[in-house]
Amino acid sequence: MNNFTLHTPTRILFGEGQIAHLSNEIPVGSKVLITFGGGSVKKTGVMDQVYSALKDFDVQEFGGIEPNPSYETLMKAVEVVKAQKIDFLLAVGGGSVLDGTKFIAAAAFYGEEPWNILQTQGADIKQALPMGSVLTLPATGSESNNGAVITRRATGDKQAFRSPFVQPLFAVLDPVYTYTLPERQIANGVVDAFVHTIEQYLTYPVEAKVQDRFAEGLLLTLIEEGPKALKEPENYAVRANVMWSATMALNGLIGAGVPQDWATHMLGHELTAMHGIDHAQTLAIVLPSLMNIKREQKRGKLLQYADRVWGFNEGDEEQRIDLAITATREFFEAMGIPTRMQDYQLDGSSIPALLVKLEEKGLTQLGEHQDITLEVSRQIYEDAR
Ligand code: NAP
Ligand code: FE
Repeated sequence: MNNFTLHTPTRILFGEGQIAHLSNEIPVGSKVLITFGGGSVKKTGVMDQVYSALKDFDVQEFGGIEPNPSYETLMKAVEVVKAQKIDFLLAVGGGSVLDGTKFIAAAAFYGEEPWNILQTQGADIKQALPMGSVLTLPATGSESNNGAVITRRATGDKQAFRSPFVQPLFAVLDPVYTYTLPERQIANGVVDAFVHTIEQYLTYPVEAKVQDRFAEGLLLTLIEEGPKALKEPENYAVRANVMWSATMALNGLIGAGVPQDWATHMLGHELTAMHGIDHAQTLAIVLPSLMNIKREQKRGKLLQYADRVWGFNEGDEEQRIDLAITATREFFEAMGIPTRMQDYQLDGSSIPALLVKLEEKGLTQLGEHQDITLEVSRQIYEDAR
């Protein structure tokens, strides 16, 4: 196991009705900016609950943060923050609103060109506004981590940053708020959380037993509860298990002291930026092919995954690995998320352009051992057609 420092300071208010305690989490006298997306939180009534919980605060709002939040929109929010002297940000929505709000929080104190936050991956952030969230879409784990992914529409770039300054102070996780999610979004959430777990689990060497068992617990829970979340949208227990899995998948716990991959996410981001495919859909396209192309390097862990997650422990090693990859693909498909580029009307002709984008960003040595070169990325994209 590698050395690690683990600090997960986000306070979690989990369960039905926890919104009632929201006002205790924000310093008295704060001027609060509520950030939100395209309006789902207004339609579903979540926003009314937020307003009534914050009745004693000076509250303003900024809406219109898109899925895959854009730099262009977020910079408008930064202007509001500065003009209105906002001192607390409350994100109400899914991962895009959360991520966008992290960017706003840091950009409010940043110099001339806040896009440099992405260029430097957050390393030179020195200050940010405090923020918290009311989560409505379990998926990204953004509610209790310090990462964010931002897209610049003008240049078609989707890039990530992280900084301890943008770690949310608290997150209200009420599973009831997820009842209104369209099937596509709950499916996206389950797949994103599944792949977050895999990015930190399906790596080698194989020696972090506690992290492995936690990760396998999350994978098994998502496999068990994901299809039920589609069939029984108002089953509280199911939604609670999915919601907590998504948070636990990316709050630092299972990733502590283990090698981490993240190549599926990096290759996926390019598909979103170039073709507008949903984040989780891109992961469902890339992951099965990455497992296939990297089967030698990941052999030990793939066999452990095949055995402990899918129960495949007979036959030769290649067969067990093939079965595990097929089972992964079938799980995504059962969630309603196709796993081939062609299912999204992509014939593979953009692969050279996707590789150019990776190269421009210096993403030429990906994976837990930086051995996913551009050539290996090409093979993964080709295999995913
Ligand atoms: P999202 O983009 O935040 O939301 C997707 C859609 O779901 C939006 O149209 C939203 O509508 C709708 N929605 C949200 N909650 C709803 C509810 N309760 N009922 C009905 N509709 C609802 O989705 P996401 O998957 O959470 O976030 C994806 C983004 O996060 C991507 O940009 C991805 O790259 C990023 N990401 C971040 C991390 C991280 O660690 N920070 C990790 C993985 C991915 P409205 O806009 O109208 O609200
Ligand atoms: Fe993700």
